[in-house]
Amino acid sequence: MRILVTGGLGFIGSSVIRKLISETNHEVINLDKVSYASTYGSVQQVSNDPRYQFIKCDLADPSATNEAIQSCKPQAVLHLAAESHVDRSIDGPGAFVEANIIGTFNLLQAVRSVELSKFVHVSTDEVFGSLSLDDPQFTEDTPYDPRSPYSASKAASDHLARAWGETFGVPVTVTNCSNNYGAFQFPEKMIPLMIIKAISGEPLPIYGRGENIRDWLYVEDHAAALIEVLLNGSVGSTYAIGGDNEKTNLDMVQLLCSIIDERRNSSKFSDSIVHNKPCEELIEFVEDRPGHDLRYAIDSSKIQNELSWKPTILPEFGLELTVDWYLQNSEWWQPLLEERSATKRAGTLGS
Ligand code: NAD
Repeated sequence: MRILVTGGLGFIGSSVIRKLISETNHEVINLDKVSYASTYGSVQQVSNDPRYQFIKCDLADPSATNEAIQSCKPQAVLHLAAESHVDRSIDGPGAFVEANIIGTFNLLQAVRSVELSKFVHVSTDEVFGSLSLDDPQFTEDTPYDPRSPYSASKAASDHLARAWGETFGVPVTVTNCSNNYGAFQFPEKMIPLMIIKAISGEPLPIYGRGENIRDWLYVEDHAAALIEVLLNGSVGSTYAIGGDNEKTNLDMVQLLCSIIDERRNSSKFSDSIVHNKPCEELIEFVEDRPGHDLRYAIDSSKIQNELSWKPTILPEFGLELTVDWYLQNSEWWQPLLEERSATKRAGTLGS
């Protein structure tokens, strides 16, 4: 099958592409506009494969999008391209309307002219709003209640995707996933930002009191779920995807600190860790993000029962893999930090 992956130079899209090329026989077309969040390094290990093709295209441009679809005639689509950083959506919401709403609209219009088996629209649990501590987890039936420009733009794109399914017969399936972490995540998001600051001995800024809860999922588990939905999910359905692993931001940062403190004693990593005191001493609580949702949590029983997918990596182990990856791959993230400090400022903390 010829699978179009949009946003494939980003964090999750590149994980999906690495998996599709290395574990299946499908062809992959990676369509990305190449934004600040894109890196060619994230697909380097598969980019010489004859089944991989790259198209540079901004989905906000309708004629470029049409041309791209006509040139590659995909048989299935995994749509991940989006502006994804909540802090940036507060600083500049227009880019989110453009990429997430207009971009999705243009793509949905363009694919009406090709024969698709599936259009997987990749969304977030943030569209459901904020849970209190004793609310039940989000399910596929939770009403939408987005509260940030990011989640509102994703919610709008989910509605467009479902409407194009009902009205124009585009074979849409929507996924709503919880927070991801893992290798190749842009270093403005919380997990990589904290790792990089902790190893450099810089303060670890945590919003509010660090009490916000997220349901953390290792990125490769998300990629596996998306491929499963693409190949075996029902058209017209929604799948909620989560790690069943609720942790506060403070829990996550404390876990990272203890992993880094432990790695400091290993000859393999000690040279990469400049800071030589317990990392927890670096934690600083800073003014909260406006409209900061308290808790997200996903009940993923539907995808577990229907498609036999389940998360395989517990956060304690996933965070070890992630810390080790950032320790061993500074040549990937260092230039991104330098570029960012040259263009200053983007978000300081991620979700
Ligand atoms: P990312 O910011 O790392 O990557 C997004 C990619 O999309 C970038 O390469 C960017 O260049 C591309 N892109 C953006 N606008 C585009 C446009 N107009 N045309 C073409 N390409 C464009 O994001 P991510 O974290 O990999 O997230 C991917 C998707 O998964 C998003 O739709 C996001 O809403 C969703 N999601 C993310 C998470 C998470 O924790 N990161 C959780 C649930 C869902």
